[in-house]
Amino acid sequence: MKNLVVAIDGPAGAGKSTVAQLAARKLGCTYIDTGAMYRAVAWKTLQRKQPVTDELILDVVKDVHVELAYVEGKTTVSVDGTDVTGEIRTPEVTAIVSQVAALGPVRSRMVELQRRMAAKGSVLMDGRDIATSVLPDANVKIFLTASIEERARRRFKEMQEKGYNVSLEELQKDIAARDKADSEREISPLVQAPDAELLDTSNMGIDEVVQAIIDRCSRV
Ligand code: C5P
Repeated sequence: MKNLVVAIDGPAGAGKSTVAQLAARKLGCTYIDTGAMYRAVAWKTLQRKQPVTDELILDVVKDVHVELAYVEGKTTVSVDGTDVTGEIRTPEVTAIVSQVAALGPVRSRMVELQRRMAAKGSVLMDGRDIATSVLPDANVKIFLTASIEERARRRFKEMQEKGYNVSLEELQKDIAARDKADSEREISPLVQAPDAELLDTSNMGIDEVVQAIIDRCSRV
C-alpha cells in the first residue's frame, strides 16, 4: 500500500499534539511533532544563560542535534543526546519559541530533518507550515483550530495539571501573541493551505476530533 501522509496545521493550543498522537496510533503512522523540534532549539538557547538575541539563536542552531523518537505511541525529544521531552514544555521555552522559529536558518535545518523523517514511511505530522511548505503533497491536509477562549481554557487545564501556577487571562494573552507572531512572520507563516480542510474543535471532544481525522484519512 502507498504511504499515507497526513499534514495537520493550526494555532497554539488547538489540541493538535493530543489528537494527532492518538490518530497516528490508530492509523499506524509515525507521529512527528514539529513544534517539539523548534522547542528543542529554544531549550538549548536558554541553556546558554545569555540574553536571547537572534545572533545567539543562530549560533545555537549551527551545531544543535535534535532527535525525535516515536516509540509505542509516545514521542521523546532529545537535544545533543539529552532527553528534554519534559523541559521543552516550560513557560520559559514557550515564551521564546516563536522568535526561534521565525529565523530562516532554524527553519531550513528543521524542515530538512522533518522531510527526511517523512520519507521513511506513513506519517502524520503536525505544526504550522506542514501543508503549505514541509509536505505540500500530503494526502490529507487538515487545519485544526478552536476559539481563542477554548484554546486558552485547554492550555490552562494542562498547565494546572502539570503544577504551574498561571492565570487564564495571561495564558490567553500569550497564546494570542504567539498566534500573531506565527501568522505574521515572513518565512512560512501559519496559514490555512487553500486545499486544507478546516476542523473547528471548539465544541468537540478528543475522541470526536480523532475520529474526524481518521474519517478524512479513510477517504484517500
Ligand atoms: O506546536 P507548538 O505550540 O509546540 O509549537 C511551538 C512553536 O513552534 C510555535 O508557536 C511556532 O512558533 C513554532 N512552530 C513553527 N512551525 C512548525 C511548528 C511549530 O514555526 N511547523
